[in-house]
Formats: sequence, structure tokens, C-alpha cells
Amino acid sequence: MAMIRVAVAGAAGRMGATVCEAVEGAADMELVARVDPALGTSLGDALSAAPDVLVDFTIPTTAMANAREAVAAGIHVVIGTTGFEVSELDDLRGAKANVFVAPNFAIGAVLMMRFAVEAARHMARAEIIELHHDRKVDAPSGTAARTAALMRDAGGSDVPVHSVRLPGLVAHQEVILGDVGQTLTIRHDSIDRVSFMPGVLLAVRRVAGLSESPTVGLEHLLD
Ligand code: NAD
Repeated sequence: MAMIRVAVAGAAGRMGATVCEAVEGAADMELVARVDPALGTSLGDALSAAPDVLVDFTIPTTAMANAREAVAAGIHVVIGTTGFEVSELDDLRGAKANVFVAPNFAIGAVLMMRFAVEAARHMARAEIIELHHDRKVDAPSGTAARTAALMRDAGGSDVPVHSVRLPGLVAHQEVILGDVGQTLTIRHDSIDRVSFMPGVLLAVRRVAGLSESPTVGLEHLLD
């Protein structure tokens, strides 16, 4: 079996370190570079290790710069970093390598979004409460922003988002829908960062074969 050569940007971070462990544990992947200023390593070092795929869990400006540099070098990119407008990567359409972006790699979160969109078609109003650890830099979360946008398109009304940042939390979201005399609550909890790893590994395996790039959302890799 041909091994997929993977480089990880943000390798010293909470998510990046977890991705490195997951890649090292995958029988069909080889971790060829850990990129992070905290480790004294640059993207240039990583590209010279000839990865097939770059996985990025850094910060928004870095993620976009890394994606451009990697794609220009013919390396596919999987972006988990949140807090940037995906439309800013539109010019990479048709480039010589593919880009996959997901604001949330947890399967349960993808299902929460799907159910919330379905519910938005039938109930009058909705609001979202997203709750994350207190070191998260962006608010609202990428997941909440995407859920709200999808629900607005389906239901026709704006979906306000409330952000909670507290120690002890990982990544949680509650979608509350209201209508005459009733409410419906759809809730997802990531209680450990390993919840994101099956989705990240799936994206690493599938990014080279995408029919459209950039592709946004794990739901496009399911079913
Ligand atoms: P973190 O602060 O723990 O890690 C970020 C790392 O990026 C740090 O180690 C930092 O040194 C590194 N970094 C900064 N500039 C860099 C550069 N130029 N090159 C390489 N590395 C660089 O943050 P985190 O909690 O791991 O989150 C990272 C991102 O992932 C955030 O945007 C967060 O919202 C997102 N996130 C996404 C998902 C998802 O499922 N898509 C899940 C959780 C977190």
C-alpha cells in the first residue's frame, strides 16, 4: 500500500499535536514534518520533505498563506483552522493541488448541522449557543457561523449566535428552535479532541481525489 506522506502545520498546538498522533497511528500514513514556530520549524522545511498532504491547524492568516504556498508546490491541503472567510481561497479553484476545509471534523457535529437545517425548514425561529474552552481565539466559532448560514438559507430567517468561553469546556453547540408552545434543542459535545481525528484522517485520504476544490464541509466526504 502506498503511504500518504503528511505534514502538519501547528504541530505544537492542541489540535496539531493530536493530529500528529493520529497520523502516526494510521497504517496508511507517514508523518514527514511537524511545522510550528514553537518547534523552530517552517513550512519551507516541511515542503522539502515532499509531503502529499499538508494538514493545517494554526491561525487564520497563517492557514491561508500556508494553503497558497503548499498548493503552488503541488501539495494538497486539509484546513481545520477557523476564523477566516473561505471565499478568500476562491482563487485556488482549478489550481494544481486540492484544498479541503472543514470548520468541524467531528461526525456528530456534522449530523447536528444537518438536523438543524432540516428543523429550520419547519420551525419559526432559532438561536445558537456555542461553548468553547477559554483559549479559543475566534468568536463565533466556525461551526456556529456555518450552522447559522445553512439554517438561514433553509429557513429564511436570521439565526443569532451566542458565544461562551470558559475553562473546562472543549467544543459544544446547542441549536434551540422555537415555535408556538414548543422548543426543540439539538446539542453536540466534543469532550475530547480525538473526536475530530476520524474526520481529519478521512479528509487526508480523500483530498487528492476531490472533484471540486476548494471543498468546504465534512458532509461532502460522507455517504
Ligand atoms: P493552538 O493555539 O493550541 O495551536 C495553534 C498552533 O499554531 C500553535 O502551536 C502555534 O505556534 C502554531 N502556529 C502559529 N503560526 C504558525 C505558522 N506560521 N506555522 C505553523 N504553525 C504556526 O490552537 P488549537 O486549539 O490547536 O486550534 C487551532 C485551530 O483549529 C483554531 O483555528 C481552532 O478554531 C481550530 N479548530 C478546528 C477544529 C475543526 O474540527 N475544524 C476543531 C478544533 C479546533
